[in-house]
Amino acid sequence: MQDHGQNYIAGEWVDGTSEIENHNPSDLSDLVGVFAQASADQLDATLDQAQRAQAEWAAYGLERKQAVLSAIGTEMMARAEELGTLLSREEGKPLAEGKGEVYRAGQFFTYYAAECLRQLGENADSVRDGVEIDVRREPVGVVAIISPWNFPTATASWKIAPALCYGNAVVWKPANITPASAVALTEIISRQDIPKGLFSLVMGSGRDIGQRLVESPKVNAISFTGSVPVGKGIAAAAIQNLTRVQMEMGSKNALAVMDDADLDLAVSLALGGAFGGTGQKCTASSRLVVHAAVHDAFVDKLVAGAQAMTVGHALQDGTQIGPVVSAQQLAENLAYVDLGRSEGAELACGGVRLEMPHDGYYMSPGVFLNTTNDMRINREEMFAPLTSVIKVDSYEAALATVNDTTFGLTSGIVTQNLARATHFRRNARTGVVTVNLPTAGTDYHVPFGGRGDSSYGPREQGKAAAEFYTTVKTAYISAGTPM
Ligand code: NDP
Repeated sequence: MQDHGQNYIAGEWVDGTSEIENHNPSDLSDLVGVFAQASADQLDATLDQAQRAQAEWAAYGLERKQAVLSAIGTEMMARAEELGTLLSREEGKPLAEGKGEVYRAGQFFTYYAAECLRQLGENADSVRDGVEIDVRREPVGVVAIISPWNFPTATASWKIAPALCYGNAVVWKPANITPASAVALTEIISRQDIPKGLFSLVMGSGRDIGQRLVESPKVNAISFTGSVPVGKGIAAAAIQNLTRVQMEMGSKNALAVMDDADLDLAVSLALGGAFGGTGQKCTASSRLVVHAAVHDAFVDKLVAGAQAMTVGHALQDGTQIGPVVSAQQLAENLAYVDLGRSEGAELACGGVRLEMPHDGYYMSPGVFLNTTNDMRINREEMFAPLTSVIKVDSYEAALATVNDTTFGLTSGIVTQNLARATHFRRNARTGVVTVNLPTAGTDYHVPFGGRGDSSYGPREQGKAAAEFYTTVKTAYISAGTPM
């Protein structure tokens, strides 16, 4: 089945000025659909309508907003199989991951549905006699959401749900590689009891429509997930209008494996963290920092585990690693394999393009050994099914290596020593830290974000999202005439 995806502009489904084809990366002969590219005029029109709709939405009662978010989330969870299949078909992640992503995305909506009813302010006595202070949060206005292809539904949902919860309008520009998931989510939102134009979908390339969106003075806040260079460009555009920004970017996450680690657990965490989502995760375990005492045993199990993983069509039973998302991403991944070798790393397995019955962007999971932390393969985000082992002599060296990066999203330690785990938890310079758990995989009701080049602006998710999606108003109230 092919989709003909339209944009959702000012509350209407409309064609664009051009269209793009969207092919399944597991099987390039499978055309997922053709998708409209929004024009500059359409973007401007929808921004105008969003401003009007936002005022109307902000005045909706709390329960009415709560019902809208709850309905979106409930429908997504109920349709996780169907929508997850579409997601896996266009993005390439194995079906279980696609379904899981849609279900989790639904949970963001039901979580923020409940948050609609939990928006409490603060009050205080003034330092002036007879004066009270009321501190409340109000919507920011029109929020531009720019999302990536690797979690096309979840990332967008953890931005859209709080934006709506806190009373804002949303103009969403999804990644052009994954438009079908964007149309599916928009279709659900479009059927809700919301003001016309409160939510818009503007598909098109980041360079064109994305850039115009972030430069618009009609946008009050921009939430972005993607690469560091694009994030920096968006921040530069935003500052021209003093638009607030929140950015979640790349990382180079490390999993430290200590000499007292349960090695089977460590290997399973490393394999899942490095190759889940075909390694295309901002939380991927792309550096495995391993204590010398267990290095050889760990490496043997790791390489055997990587070689045993099944690469295949995302929708096929038994597939553990799907294709990478695009020809460009595949070319970049293979270039990193060459780079790693030229830097002196040993490729113990994988890292090659695979031929399959279906023509797709398949590559085998690769493990680099004998690497040092100063190699480019250990400093740059590869977004590939590739991981590197770095041998260290002590816990202290492991922690120093984990922290020796310009990024800082997640890090993890595998150890049975409580003192070390506690020390690591307190001293790892990342926004998320895990103990005996993968570096990837986070909850929706607590903050998510990183340090260094990984993040900029307030944290996402949980109650922390209110920092970004609201603005604080401080009211001083006097009774006027004393009684
Ligand atoms: P980009 O940063 O290019 O794209 C992310 C989003 O930004 C997409 O929706 C894109 O649109 C949009 N965009 C691109 N240029 C602009 C612009 N000038 N103004 C406004 N929006 C823009 O990431 P890619 O998808 O190209 O991936 C490249 C690399 O980025 C990956 O290999 C990975 O290293 C990193 N990345 C990290 C992610 C993370 O979760 N941390 C997520 C995705 C990527 P469009 O794609 O339609 O052009």
